[in-house]
This record gives sequence, structure tokens and C-alpha cells, in this order.
Amino acid sequence: MFSSDNPGAKVIVVKKYDEILIMQEANQIVAQTLTMLQKTVTPGISTWELDRLAEDYCKKMKAIPAFKGYRGFPGSLCVSINEEVVHGIPSRKRKLKKGDILSVDFGVCYKGYFGDSAITIAVDRVSLDEERLITVTEKSLNKAIEKVVAGNRIADISCAVQRCVEESGFSVVRQFVGHGIGLSLHEGPEIPNFHQGEHTARLLPGMVLAIEPMVNMGTHRVKVLRDGWTVVTADGKPSAHFEHSVAVTEDGPMILSSRENIH
Ligand code: MG
Ligand code: MG
Repeated sequence: MFSSDNPGAKVIVVKKYDEILIMQEANQIVAQTLTMLQKTVTPGISTWELDRLAEDYCKKMKAIPAFKGYRGFPGSLCVSINEEVVHGIPSRKRKLKKGDILSVDFGVCYKGYFGDSAITIAVDRVSLDEERLITVTEKSLNKAIEKVVAGNRIADISCAVQRCVEESGFSVVRQFVGHGIGLSLHEGPEIPNFHQGEHTARLLPGMVLAIEPMVNMGTHRVKVLRDGWTVVTADGKPSAHFEHSVAVTEDGPMILSSRENIH
């Protein structure tokens, strides 16, 4: 998210292993927060209440919410419902309804390093199509992570997402992309979710990548609402978003924001 600004200025920073371990701590705070929110989401709760829970937990863990104040973003969480793709603003007035799909994106800064991850949650029961949209989006992220191997290129990640999504009849958002992460929330390289040619950066051990497919049920086209933040699909059809921060290591991908050991 927030990633299409001034791409030329972003350098790719390779991290040492002890830095990756701190980034894992940061990302585990994000992962714990997302798991907590997943358990809390229920019809009737407002997106503002979710924002409060996330911020309180983050502060308890001695981390700083990374999105709050970022270019003036007013919340700690990005909460994007149904046709909202990314960057939805938490609101007391916006209460979740049965059948909504909610994308929650959260980032923190911990010991100077950033963590960034996102999930899409079904609020109670959703339609079969929406269930499939969520499943395919998460699957496309997993397919992308399989390509996080030293020697591969960013294009391998992009193609893995696009192939998985388009085979399923959905589309990938072009206007927003994934990014490197570390001492800044957004570092190089940009990680598009669609093929942009082979001349992309080669993956080296120590790179940390925030890979984040944004997948639309209909057209890939999006627009930004008048609040200046909320990105919605151009055709009003639903959208899903998953994100992991992943380190390239000699032994393959290391998913820093993994929720596997969180219960
Ligand atoms: Mg991100
Ligand atoms: Mg994010």
C-alpha cells in the first residue's frame, strides 16, 4: 500500500540476519494483531473499534503504529470493506454487516524496523463467489512466496500472482503494488502483482519484501474516493487483499509475518 510514490528514489537495502530477526519481531506484533482482529470481527462492530484494539495492542507491545500520520492518514489500521480495495479509513459510523468482506492492513515500527501484513476476513457468512475471491487472493500470495528464492527476479513473483488470479477469472490491481521494507515502511523494489517485463531486480539473500496482491472480482480498474484515501473498484464489485513481509534467505523464503504459531 501507499506504494506508487516516487519509485525512482527507492533503493533496495539488503539486511543482515540480526536485522531480519528484529523485523520478524515487528511482523509478529502485526500478525498477532491481525489474528486478534480476525477473532473479534462480528456484525455490528465498527471499524473504529477495530482500529482502537489494534493500536492499544501495538502500544502494549511497545511498537508504534506505522500508518497513523503517514502522509496524514488518520487511522492505525486500513479497513476496506467489499468494493473498497485498500486504504479505507476507520470510522465510528461504519459498522460491519453480515456478508461483508473486510480487508485489514496493519503496520508497525518496532526497534526502528517496520512490519506490514494484511488479511481479508469474511464477516459471518459471505457469498460463494466472495469466499472464492478471498481463497484465491491468499493462494496467489502463497504462490508468490514460493518464488522468493535467491537468484529469481521480482518478475517471477509478479507472474506467480497474476497467473493464479487470472486462471481463477479474477483480476489484479495495477495501480498499487508491493514494496521492499526495513528501516522504512516503503523501500525498493516495487513489487507489481502483474507482469511488467523481465528486467526486474534479482533477489538476493537479505532482501525483505512486502508482497501484497490486491484482487478484484471484476475489472482491475480502481479509483480513489473524495476522502483522498479510500481506493474502490471502478465497477463496484468486491476486492480482497493479503500481504506478508518475507525475507529472502539462503534457505528460501522466511515469512516474517507468519500467523502459523499464533492461536
Ligand atoms: Mg505494504
Ligand atoms: Mg500493508
